[in-house]
Amino acid sequence: MVTFLAGGTGTPKLLDGAAEVFDPAETTVVANTGDDVELGGHLVCPDLDTVLFSGGGVLDTDRWWGIAGDTTETDDELHRLADAAGLEPGPRYLPAEAQTVGRDIARWRRFSGVAEFMEIGDRDRAVHITRTSLLDEGNSLTEVTQTLADAFALDVSLLPMSNDPVATLVHTDEGVMHFQEYWVHHRAAPEVRDVEFRGADEATITPEVADALSDPVVVGPSNPVTSIGPMLALDDFADALAETPVVAVSPFVEDHVFSGPAADLMEGIGYDPSTAGVAEAYPFADAFVLDDADGTDLDRPIVNTDTRIDGTEDAARVARAVAEAFAEVS
Ligand code: GDP
Repeated sequence: MVTFLAGGTGTPKLLDGAAEVFDPAETTVVANTGDDVELGGHLVCPDLDTVLFSGGGVLDTDRWWGIAGDTTETDDELHRLADAAGLEPGPRYLPAEAQTVGRDIARWRRFSGVAEFMEIGDRDRAVHITRTSLLDEGNSLTEVTQTLADAFALDVSLLPMSNDPVATLVHTDEGVMHFQEYWVHHRAAPEVRDVEFRGADEATITPEVADALSDPVVVGPSNPVTSIGPMLALDDFADALAETPVVAVSPFVEDHVFSGPAADLMEGIGYDPSTAGVAEAYPFADAFVLDDADGTDLDRPIVNTDTRIDGTEDAARVARAVAEAFAEVS
């Protein structure tokens, strides 16, 4: 058995070829939910969805989110309506008092659907309607995720990190904003001063996650701050990682990041934006997989390979390096 911790890009890329090395029937993926938002009343879980769509063979692999070839008629019409009605485009947060009423799982991350600021494809939206409706029918996010995983015929087990709300809020020179406002709306332009995981103090890991963390864990190439950070903020999560073999794949080549806002976010919370900073952020990692061109000297075993993942073969190569790293530490 093996467990992968996933954000929205790096680990789903790795999973795409991991089956050659790790049997999918014995693989669990724990996905970050700090990025989730409620948009127009629907709970959007970007990191869970990337794994669902990728496993279901429908992911748009140019963008690494959404469904390939999806239409955007509803999104287009939302913008046309807002424009015609003279409504300011988003992000439009619901009022402060509305952030903590009703559906608990969506606390502190509720946005109006008026001119919605994240593009949601039509088929993609059907997933959010189904998810939210099943939650409203009384199911937990873990149960709903299992149902959706069945619908997409996933061959791995997929778990949200918690059934409780955790909202990743970025404190910037332009104020406090949800991660999705920072990333999707502002394209990571504001200067990061701090990152807060609101709700993490009260949130707990589920029995399913606790069980998955008793197996060897792979921290895929992920954003350490906003993909792995929300998990580490949960009580018991980091303790469980300290007790089990953990191999981490660096999302950097020395101080060069492959994609996304990881470097700015790491710098903003006081870590060196580099492989060395990732190692500092992951004291529980027993070994690292680093790129061939990454000469970072770490105090833990290193397996080098070409860590650029652009398709199944690359992913299988990195997965083999992960298996080699496990062999060195167990
Ligand atoms: P998201 O895309 O922000 O949701 O976040 P992830 O947590 O999935 O983080 C993506 C991280 O993976 C970024 O920091 C990238 O540098 C890294 N990444 C993206 N593509 C690759 C790749 O092909 N190889 C490696 N090693 N890292 C990658």
